[in-house]
Amino acid sequence: MSPGAAIPFMHLQPGADAAAIRAAIDRVITRGWFVLGPELSAFEDEFAAASGAKHAVGVGTGTDAIALTLRALGVGPGDEVITSPLSAAYSALAIMMAGATPVFADIDPERLTLDPAAVAAAVTSRTSAILPVHLYGQPADMAAIERVAHRHNLVIVEDACQAHLATAGGRPVGTIGAAGAFSFYPTKNLGALGDAGAIITNDTALADRLKRLRNGGQSDRYHHAEFGVNTRLDEIQAAVLRVRLPLLRGWTDRRRALSASYRAALAHAPLVVQRECDPGHVYHLFVVRSTDRDAMQAHLRSEGIDTLIHYPIPIPRQPAFASAAANFPCGACPIADQVCGEIFSLPLHPALTDADVARVAAAVHAFPEPGTGG
Ligand SMILES: *Cc1c(COP(=O)(O)O)cnc(C)c1O
Repeated sequence: MSPGAAIPFMHLQPGADAAAIRAAIDRVITRGWFVLGPELSAFEDEFAAASGAKHAVGVGTGTDAIALTLRALGVGPGDEVITSPLSAAYSALAIMMAGATPVFADIDPERLTLDPAAVAAAVTSRTSAILPVHLYGQPADMAAIERVAHRHNLVIVEDACQAHLATAGGRPVGTIGAAGAFSFYPTKNLGALGDAGAIITNDTALADRLKRLRNGGQSDRYHHAEFGVNTRLDEIQAAVLRVRLPLLRGWTDRRRALSASYRAALAHAPLVVQRECDPGHVYHLFVVRSTDRDAMQAHLRSEGIDTLIHYPIPIPRQPAFASAAANFPCGACPIADQVCGEIFSLPLHPALTDADVARVAAAVHAFPEPGTGG
């Protein structure tokens, strides 16, 4: 097959929104108000409305959004939080930042999110919360996870860092548990030009507490009522996000359409396409599986097509989690172990063209099957 232009995994240069972004940054510079100002409060209102929640609280990163929410809910030292072994490690790092212990329950092989039965089996007398991850933009099985939480009186915090505008069974993610954490890291479906994050919640007291905790625990200027941290979504990033938020619905529709094209074009291809388990999936990533992954990735690279692995190592197998894993056998998540050895992500972003999808699919179909001498 004749190689066309390279297809990078993604690119982060602003596109049609570049002029509006520059104007928004200029507006902040001219105003001379850079932290906790009018851009952040406006973005919080707009993001809450777009996400179907009463409140949004902007913070420095998605990781801080998770850690602060756990702390604000009283989850800390001595508490266990059940989460997924297949995620960005930040999900579990945030649990440790709150002083709690991550406990990993295996994933459902179809959804690749927390298996509710495995969650139920992982509950102990120390369990206080569940942190499901809406991985790749596909919501976790929230109805079943809620039943487990209810039975054991556990609070749910949703890691929605990859799932802006996603819905689970028709309900907006982040509004099903006590709160939902979002990241605006540049590669996310809604990305800033640097680090940024937010929490959404319908609980007014929780939102107020989070606003204190992100700002040094101050109840009033120079009055530190409790131990807080310094993690604010700054005015320049908030202004950038306000330009992009109105575009997010269209970008999400495009991600869904491209994913449907991939699905159709990859029928009968020599790899496994993960099933869409909920129409509220927002396709942060388009993830496929192959038992011959290294060779398939090398083949695609030779055709100029970049792929990545999200994620190659189950979190409990990372050295950083050795202490958490002390009371947790590494082999306890066999499905995550197997899946991590097979998954990889095809290029997917709103600026990808239909021709790009066709080229990627053609390259996949041209993969030499083992034993054909290719
Ligand atoms: C990106 C991400 C995070 C962390 O967000 P940051 O803004 O990078 O701190 C946490 N969980 C998941 C699932 C993510 O994708």
